[in-house]
Amino acid sequence: MIIQLTPPTITPATIIPIACIRPKRRNGFNISVQPHANQTVVHCYGHGGSGWTMLFGSVQRAITLFELTHPNKKDPIRIVGAGCMGLLSAIELRRRGYQIAGIIGKEPYDGASWRASGYFAFSGNASTSAEAQLIRELVTTTLAEYKNIEEGGHAYLNPSTVRLLPTYCKIGSDAALCCEYLVKSGIMPAGQPATLDFGSVQHENFIRYYNYHIQTTNLMRQLMQTIERLGISIEYRAIRSFSQLQDAVIFNCSGLGSAELNNDNGMVPLRGHLIMLKRTAEIEPLDYIVQTVEMQNDDEENLYLIPKHELVTTEYPDGLPCAGVLGTTYAPTDDMSEYDIIKLDAMEFEKLIERAKQFFGT
Ligand SMILES: Cc1cc2nc3c(=O)[nH]c(=O)nc-3n(C[C@H](O)[C@H](O)[C@H](O)COP(=O)(O)OP(=O)(O)OC[C@H]3O[C@@H](n4cnc5c(N)ncnc54)[C@H](O)[C@@H]3O)c2cc1C
Repeated sequence: MIIQLTPPTITPATIIPIACIRPKRRNGFNISVQPHANQTVVHCYGHGGSGWTMLFGSVQRAITLFELTHPNKKDPIRIVGAGCMGLLSAIELRRRGYQIAGIIGKEPYDGASWRASGYFAFSGNASTSAEAQLIRELVTTTLAEYKNIEEGGHAYLNPSTVRLLPTYCKIGSDAALCCEYLVKSGIMPAGQPATLDFGSVQHENFIRYYNYHIQTTNLMRQLMQTIERLGISIEYRAIRSFSQLQDAVIFNCSGLGSAELNNDNGMVPLRGHLIMLKRTAEIEPLDYIVQTVEMQNDDEENLYLIPKHELVTTEYPDGLPCAGVLGTTYAPTDDMSEYDIIKLDAMEFEKLIERAKQFFGT
């Protein structure tokens, strides 16, 4: 099957390079309940590049663990972190009858959740079979929620946040393996071999699947609106320690902030380089996903194209209309100086633009 696709427009005037950091944890995410001096701290952080894919399962697990140890609904709960994990935890706790003292975030729109592109993807890498089983459970619970949202059955998230999109994966790529897992689990129909035709170039050896695309900006906005509707306050200030808070119960959803707050030296800032594609009167939003691995300077490099309708960050608080996003890298930067990170960014953006232009023939 030959699929004709509109290539992205990649010119200096239509792109915005942005870097963002995944909250990766070396030994896997941390969902646990921990006594902390005279406080109970419930951790839910460290999901790296799969936070959207494990969102609902992770928050549900954190709350279930908490309920087993702390059935008292009288203690107000403080949430640290205003990313997707923190906002959803606050909403779900309130829906279960808990009182929320408020949410704390460092700055509006600062975390990975606002910047990320979003498709349903996870790495099956787990160090034990119990961990692999847990990942499967979290992914399956989350997928069921996205299906529910897409079908219009969700209590507070509407279908504009999630949709099934044609997803073209290079055979043998990690993205194709992830889709195959969903096919084998009976969640996704089998893929079809496809040749991609971008007008000036064609690529064989792709499979077309239908995978969930998460409109991360829309979803974050709807979570924020729900928080406001429930009368939960968000306060923006950086805390250095949980002991600064008077609350008896804290949900720690601080992502990378857990390196300091939970003294977790397993946290790794995993930098992702993205090229935002501007939307203009002439440039339509893109509505397909491509996932590939391409040779560049003798190395295998990832390349994806994912729709993203709007970028909201600390620099663009009012939102910038987008057609999509090109990505990405997975660069650990824990040992790098600021100067080296600036050099890395310049090099990775240039390489990413070059391989995208080559792949899409633009
Ligand atoms: C380039 C990129 C692409 C991605 N693509 C995908 C994808 O396709 N699919 C997918 O499933 N996932 C993807 N992800 C991963 C996903 O975005 C993250 O796993 C998820 O957003 C993490 O959410 P979070 O709420 O844990 O953390 P964050 O969104 O980072 O939020 C952390 C919050 O904690 C607050 N905080 C931190 N420290 C402190 C402190 N000391 N005091 C007060 N507040 C504090 C911050 O201000 C922020 O509000 C991607 C990520 C990136 C960077």
